[in-house]
Amino acid sequence: MPPRNVKTISDVIYYYYAWLVIARAAGKMDQWGFIIQRYNLLKAGKIHMADRDGEIRVQMRTTPECVYCGGQADSNDHVIPRNYDGPDRMQNVVRSCKHCNSSKKDNDLVDWWINILGRDESSLPRIPIGIYLKYSYDWHKMRDSLDNLANNVTDLKPFIPAKRK
Ligand SMILES: [Zn+2]
Repeated sequence: MPPRNVKTISDVIYYYYAWLVIARAAGKMDQWGFIIQRYNLLKAGKIHMADRDGEIRVQMRTTPECVYCGGQADSNDHVIPRNYDGPDRMQNVVRSCKHCNSSKKDNDLVDWWINILGRDESSLPRIPIGIYLKYSYDWHKMRDSLDNLANNVTDLKPFIPAKRK
């Protein structure tokens, strides 16, 4: 769970990006000071989520492993599903195995990982969640909703959720 002062959609996006994408790459997921420092740099615009776009392209070209399970990749997966208008571009496509690809299907990445597979948010796969957070930022920016309140990563959905009763 993010700390209390992380309370808008953009804050929550930066917090998870600092934790799950940057700190994980640095092997510092349990180092609070490092995470908050990177969070503050993202928030201040001194570092950018787009700084890591190159890494996604490298993953697509050279990695033989599924981004979700580490098995052998034999297909491509749209991180933001096509039915949520996920772009058919390299910034949204990762290498995955057929099993993960068909299990994820048209599900939202975070919903699939946490609610369907029953996994913890701390284990959200790094490259896909990086793509997801960046897309979510752009999506909410376009709709002027970056300053809306949010609690955690499940509140960042980059599409209109179906109404539930
Ligand atoms: Zn897999």
